[in-house]
Amino acid sequence: MKIFGIDLGTTYSCIAFVNEYGAAEVVPNAESQTTTPSVVAFEEGGTVSVGDAAKETLNTDPDNVCSTIKRQMGKRDFTFYAFDQEYTPEAISAIILKKIAKDAGEALGEEVKDVVITCPAYFGLEEREATKKAGIAAGLNVLAILNEPTAAAISYGIKTEEPQTVMVYDLGGGTFDVTIIKVENNSIRVVATGGDHMMGGKDWDEKISSYVIEQSCQANGESVDSVYADNELMGDLELKSEKAKKQLSQKDSVKVKFNGETVEISRSQFDQFTSDLLESTITKTHETMLEAEKKGVDHYDKILLVGGSTRMPQVDARLKQEFPNIPVEFCDPDQSVAKGAAMYGLNMAAFAEFSEKDNNGDGPTITKEEQEELRRNVFFGTGSQAKPITIKNVISQCIAVKLICEDNKEHIVNQIFKNTEIPCEHVLHAGTHMANQTTVAIEIFENASTDEYVDEDLCKALVDGELGPLPSGLPAGAPIDVVFKIDENGLLSIDAEHKPSGAVKHLEVNLQNALSQEELQEEIAKVNALHI
Ligand code: AMP
Repeated sequence: MKIFGIDLGTTYSCIAFVNEYGAAEVVPNAESQTTTPSVVAFEEGGTVSVGDAAKETLNTDPDNVCSTIKRQMGKRDFTFYAFDQEYTPEAISAIILKKIAKDAGEALGEEVKDVVITCPAYFGLEEREATKKAGIAAGLNVLAILNEPTAAAISYGIKTEEPQTVMVYDLGGGTFDVTIIKVENNSIRVVATGGDHMMGGKDWDEKISSYVIEQSCQANGESVDSVYADNELMGDLELKSEKAKKQLSQKDSVKVKFNGETVEISRSQFDQFTSDLLESTITKTHETMLEAEKKGVDHYDKILLVGGSTRMPQVDARLKQEFPNIPVEFCDPDQSVAKGAAMYGLNMAAFAEFSEKDNNGDGPTITKEEQEELRRNVFFGTGSQAKPITIKNVISQCIAVKLICEDNKEHIVNQIFKNTEIPCEHVLHAGTHMANQTTVAIEIFENASTDEYVDEDLCKALVDGELGPLPSGLPAGAPIDVVFKIDENGLLSIDAEHKPSGAVKHLEVNLQNALSQEELQEEIAKVNALHI
């Protein structure tokens, strides 16, 4: 019985499990690689390829290749269109998950079923729900959606004896995530998290592409616009730019052959024309440190580098320059997240409270006896010494409500701020606006702002409900309480109440962008009809 950790990355994905010696191990794909490009290529007749083969198709048939789908997770308005069929981000992600689960299953000779999938710490409720649904659509039993930096920290050293404050600087292919965590006594507590989900190695690739286009057009006189409009040329350049970037992590200069020209790029030129990207990660890092400082963090034991893009020498150098007193360490950049997720999954299975074989997605598909066996082997201590890891998380988005304020205007006012430790509860004591009001509208939003008053454009609507009927004849200002509760999985529940009359309303959080059960079934059917 194995539990798998899957790092479903923007550009690369990885799968791992804990072996019989208690060590987390990555399972290579059918092409013998430890990570698989998160790229899907559709072909005529319902065949899809995933990984390197799909990436190569960028050269020949770029319109039917889908990459960086993780950036679209939780968005309703995005669909990828190929051969008369539309695919949601969940379906595309499910195709990637199916490929890596199938390959791992074949390599190990057993089916991959129970999984923990990771996501960036700042993913909101809808992105997490979409990630879970992608797993379900791939036929997997998703035990948990775990934050990537927490997974990296588990893999790095839950066994550490000394309490430590660690900053995880995770620069992947398409996301940048900075998370400050405290590790002590088998417990991992996220103190603050921040980042930019539109920033990652891809942006460094694009800078190389722009440089190469500019230089080659200068040499051959072709118009820059006509190069950008040529999908095949651009697909070819995308591959070459990433390759050149990786080479620049080893060499002082590279040559890129493109459109009949050869463009040479030195590492110092590369560092120069990408410095704005690197600086923006430093700014985000400081913002997150400021949040942590408000919660009492005044020193750091370590900066852990996670994510393939931290292999660029500029990252390590810049962090050492910015934080000369904090040791900077590499944490198995490509594999630590999948490994940590597998370790977490095993721990969960060993200590989960469940009675019977449970296949409904809420518990591991194991028996009590298997659980006993796991507990004996669990690697955080043996036998009676084995202990569960405690994971304390924070919410990554603020929760706000629309109120009529003293200026008599409607404002969206944050109630629970991001980086608040969960589970948590907050009660808003409000009141009716006018006399004889028989209903009260309750609108709840999610946002990433740090301000108390937030612009509606920056918010995502979560709830559009109402409390009522209220008794007639109430004066203006009749007391209305709104109780916000967030559980340890980040799930929000809201109750509105007029205590004197006993009027209570439980408001369902409507994840407007989440697939309904019916829609999910449709996506499952689409994915199952493909030859992966
Ligand atoms: P991840 O999402 O953590 O797998 O990171 C993938 C990103 O790391 C991609 O943008 C890769 O191009 C980048 N990457 C992988 N290896 C290297 C390397 N040696 N030098 C620079 N970037 C790399």
